[in-house]
Amino acid sequence: MLDSNQRVIDYLRISVTDRCNLRCVYCMPEDGVPALHHDDILRYEDIVRLCRIFASLGVSKIKLTGGEPLARKGLSGLVKQLKAIDSIHSVTLTTNGVLLKEQLPDLLAAGLSGVNISLDTLDAQRFAALTRRDELHRVLEGLDAALSAECLNVKLNCVPTAENRPDWVPLAALAKDAPLSVRFIELMPVGLGASLQRQDEAQVRAELEAAFGPLSASAGPSGNGPCRYFRPEGFTGSIGFISALSHTFCHRCNRVRLTAGGFLKTCLQYETGVALRPLLDAGSDDEVIKTAILDAVRDKPAHHRFAEGGVAEQPMNEIGG
Ligand code: SAM
Ligand code: SF4
Repeated sequence: MLDSNQRVIDYLRISVTDRCNLRCVYCMPEDGVPALHHDDILRYEDIVRLCRIFASLGVSKIKLTGGEPLARKGLSGLVKQLKAIDSIHSVTLTTNGVLLKEQLPDLLAAGLSGVNISLDTLDAQRFAALTRRDELHRVLEGLDAALSAECLNVKLNCVPTAENRPDWVPLAALAKDAPLSVRFIELMPVGLGASLQRQDEAQVRAELEAAFGPLSASAGPSGNGPCRYFRPEGFTGSIGFISALSHTFCHRCNRVRLTAGGFLKTCLQYETGVALRPLLDAGSDDEVIKTAILDAVRDKPAHHRFAEGGVAEQPMNEIGG
């Protein structure tokens, strides 16, 4: 698919649930959010149908996210069905890792191509403060299990904040001896993220260079995503930066997002897009849904306005990051 700015859209991120077993301070309020009713969440069969349609329009990469995707029952079954679609080359997962160890064997058997584990600290107390849950040990077990799996592309995502500053170097150091990409994702003013202080790429980079020496540019594990990869001397893995504010990448954005409720969101900041759920419920045929998708993609906003003070009101757990 091409949008009106001539960007190729070949990547779909799907939030399979708005629920989560953690309460990260920049994403979910302490008491949680009123969860969507079970009937309002897209059924797996609808997700598979939509993915077939997206595949026919040129989407080749799918990311399952949430909320916490592993908190939804039967996710490996969904992975298997999506991997079976012709021309879907990659089905990956973004998870907080709490349930990963127990579900990894099924996910691998289903053909999962890669996993991104979100982890902001290696310190149990800071983990409990940042996520409001005492689950660090389970996330670390999940990370170990993922790194032990053959043919699984493993990435670790950290959102740098003032609170986890002491963790930036230890987290990056995990990539020294493991084939792991540790990526620092600038906090975006989305949902609760708008009320927290962002730590820029430059601040993280200065700390990492003081510890590891110059970060030289590296090809990194994946093609044309927003991450810029670097490899310090002597590292097996790599360090990456996804810096939506200090190094905007909208001009080469290749993605759209499907929310847990079935809204096709064409830009992280804005409400623009199309509600696909009513079309599914009305029994629309594939051609009608294709046209709706193509119209929405054509009108994808050229860029966000986060740096000019723009915010996104919709919570990140509904959008999926
Ligand atoms: N629960 C899963 C997880 O944490 O990986 C998947 C959903 S979570 C919304 C996806 C990613 O979005 C996580 O890496 C999280 O750190 C990131 N995220 C959440 N809120 C953010 C914000 N305001 N700015 C930048 N990244 C954010
Ligand atoms: Fe849950 Fe992920 Fe949001 Fe944390 S970032 S509260 S793990 S959805």
